[in-house]
Amino acid sequence: MYNIFMTLNTLHFTQSSYLELDNEFYSISHATPLDNPYLISFNTKAAKRIHLDSDTKEDPKFIELLNGTYTPKGCRLYSMCYAGYQFGHYASRLGDGRVHHLGSINGWHLQTKGSGETLYSRTADGRAALPSSIREYLMSEAMHHLGIPTTRALGIIGSKTKILRNNIEYAAIVMRMSPSWIRFGNFEYFYYLKEYDKLRDLADYVIAESYPHLKEEEDKYFKFFTEVLERTASLVAAWQGIGFCHGVLNTDNMSIIGLTIDYGPFAMMDEFQFNFVSNSTDKAGRYAYGEQPNVVYWNLTKLAQALSPLIDSSRMDKKLKEYGQSIYPNAYIDVMCKKLGLEYRFPRDRQLITSLIGTLQDAYIDYTQFFRTLSRYDGERMSIFELAMNPIPFDKWLSMYDTRLAKESRSQKDRHTAMLQTNPKYVLKNYMLDKAITLAKSGNFTMVERLLHIAQHPYDELPEYEKFAEETPEGYKNITLSCSS
Ligand code: AMP
Ligand code: MG
Repeated sequence: MYNIFMTLNTLHFTQSSYLELDNEFYSISHATPLDNPYLISFNTKAAKRIHLDSDTKEDPKFIELLNGTYTPKGCRLYSMCYAGYQFGHYASRLGDGRVHHLGSINGWHLQTKGSGETLYSRTADGRAALPSSIREYLMSEAMHHLGIPTTRALGIIGSKTKILRNNIEYAAIVMRMSPSWIRFGNFEYFYYLKEYDKLRDLADYVIAESYPHLKEEEDKYFKFFTEVLERTASLVAAWQGIGFCHGVLNTDNMSIIGLTIDYGPFAMMDEFQFNFVSNSTDKAGRYAYGEQPNVVYWNLTKLAQALSPLIDSSRMDKKLKEYGQSIYPNAYIDVMCKKLGLEYRFPRDRQLITSLIGTLQDAYIDYTQFFRTLSRYDGERMSIFELAMNPIPFDKWLSMYDTRLAKESRSQKDRHTAMLQTNPKYVLKNYMLDKAITLAKSGNFTMVERLLHIAQHPYDELPEYEKFAEETPEGYKNITLSCSS
């Protein structure tokens, strides 16, 4: 137990037991520093999780820590090896092409993203551009405070190192932290190489670290698969509920402990559009918002295949069927009923939700604003109508909602209070992140700090930030981004 907060001088990293696995699982690596590094932001709330003093923000050594020029006690840098299905095609060797793990503190594995080439960089430069780094830093924090399982970020630095993307960009480094960085793709790597002993070692490592209650169970591998599937189902249900589109749901971007991981061309939907695709390179819409539960199912079938040397496939197939028939639908209905302020569950709630999705689709309405406004609904419909370009479909749906609300026993006031804690006032929309990035490029990080504050208080009324709760400006709705980062 720590009683005091650490400084960078006293901070002590523990070597991850991942390094006790065979050396095919990783490579010992070294970071390549950026030129003229400077601090963009330090996340005091994340620092608390590892007992790091908030004054660290002022310590120049923090920049050095991220830049790889200061290595605290206990650090041994390494990069992980993994594979993955990318847009449906198997890539047999991916791995941390631009990530260096430092070790762990208080159960959090810390790593730098963008810190230079590794054994797994292939033809790429090992760098991360400033825009995508700011996006990941802010969005992972927003997701955490929205109650959605996610990796987090401790800080971000910029630099004068130039890198080539769609344009010339400056390189940045984000220090990310997570209780596990293992992906479905780590398992696929050993399965397709037919290295089943190592596959088992990996499963044992993940169970010991992240599912320790299963360690002594007789049927531990099947139970492990079941829990991964359940966590993943509730993660996607949470994404659908909040209006988050990940953008690149390849199996190497699927966390084995059900976290949101690897933020790239994601988006929080502005106007509700079921088929919204946030990733402009995804022409087929494979990773469209409405497809996420299906593509995650597909990813789970790939995980089942990779685990087939350890677990009877027919049992996993049965679980996979349950994902579609009950596990995911129930998780989603639960999320949506909560958003609608419903305490009880009735079979017909499914219809109410399906009908709402159709209504939102037809209405041209901001997804976040709709639920926030509904959180104060007292039977007076005008406040909802005013949000929609086409309010007509809402008339019928609100009548259904009124009928359903009549079956609840909670008072309207209590329902409103609960809904205001469920439906955020603030989410980080792409146009806001764009503004923060444009300013950061000119050395002004005030917007990054503001968005960090908003990210950390999504349910609060923040009068000074009222404009960020308004409708997305015309021309900036549902903008898409490319994978380039
Ligand atoms: P991502 O799209 O960030 O999930 O990355 C997919 C794969 O490409 C991972 O194996 C990354 O490590 C690798 N990768 C992406 N960008 C770079 C880069 N600039 N340098 C090296 N590897 C990269
Ligand atoms: Mg990735």
